[in-house]
Amino acid sequence: MENYKIGDVVVWDCAVGTVKGKIKDCFNTGLIPGIKTEVKCSKQNPGYLIELSDKNGILIGKNASDLHLEISPTTVQNLGLPKLTEKQILKLNQFIPTSFPNPNPQDLTVLDFVVADNLVNRGRSKWREKDLIILAKMLNTMGIPHTLDHDWETLSKTQGLVIAGEILKNEKAPDNLISAAGNKKLNSEIVNKEGFVQVIATVAFPIDSPIVQRLSMGIGRAVSLGGFAFEDYVCPICETSFTYKNCPHYIPEGWDAWGEDPSLVAPYYIRDGLYDLGELSSVLIANLPGATAVVGNGV
Ligand SMILES: [Zn+2]
Repeated sequence: MENYKIGDVVVWDCAVGTVKGKIKDCFNTGLIPGIKTEVKCSKQNPGYLIELSDKNGILIGKNASDLHLEISPTTVQNLGLPKLTEKQILKLNQFIPTSFPNPNPQDLTVLDFVVADNLVNRGRSKWREKDLIILAKMLNTMGIPHTLDHDWETLSKTQGLVIAGEILKNEKAPDNLISAAGNKKLNSEIVNKEGFVQVIATVAFPIDSPIVQRLSMGIGRAVSLGGFAFEDYVCPICETSFTYKNCPHYIPEGWDAWGEDPSLVAPYYIRDGLYDLGELSSVLIANLPGATAVVGNGV
């Protein structure tokens, strides 16, 4: 358990939400003096006399087990998180409602995420480069939100704003991504034929966002696109729509593939004609194994 010192600003949860105060004194035995409630103090769970913030000197008592250190914007700044460039600030300002002041760049950080690539995902589908280019353009212009868990019902789950998107193309893909989700053979063929195409989204977050806090500890890196729509399901063998009469194949895991000759079920399907996009979300496990915050030595 964390030990606090005089002057630390701490937060704790109570019936009205999260409350904040500054530590005035610390006790390792007996009861905290000078307050009406009984708070028992021990070496294992020290007690603290705390002055409530914004309440003109009201004192209360709390044990260490109830408290957390406040993670203030300045604390996060000290973590050395990246700042928005001039260009990124201009981009972000395009999405601020008219007549609102522009946000203070000191309150924001910016993070890159790989949001899509041309490999086969866990749902046995994939994008082609032409639609990934459309996706990058959408990320550049639409100002879509970065949410938590694809939770569209809860506005407070919106944590950031996608301010830019770009295409990254390489001849090869890392082995761990080629082999992910058991698709090594398919992905090797795809990369040999098409190269490895990724879409990077740049997201601006308030530095006190829970996403930023968790990412700074390496937790919660996976992301997933939500609310996208595309025109057609394309057969990778015939390179035409599955609905085209000369294509004898079935969409994998599609309702009409049940009971059909397995040799006629396509190994995956291609999403074709992207025309809408809703949000980017932090998720526990991404449908696309390579969709994650850009970490370590990059992508
Ligand atoms: Zn076909």
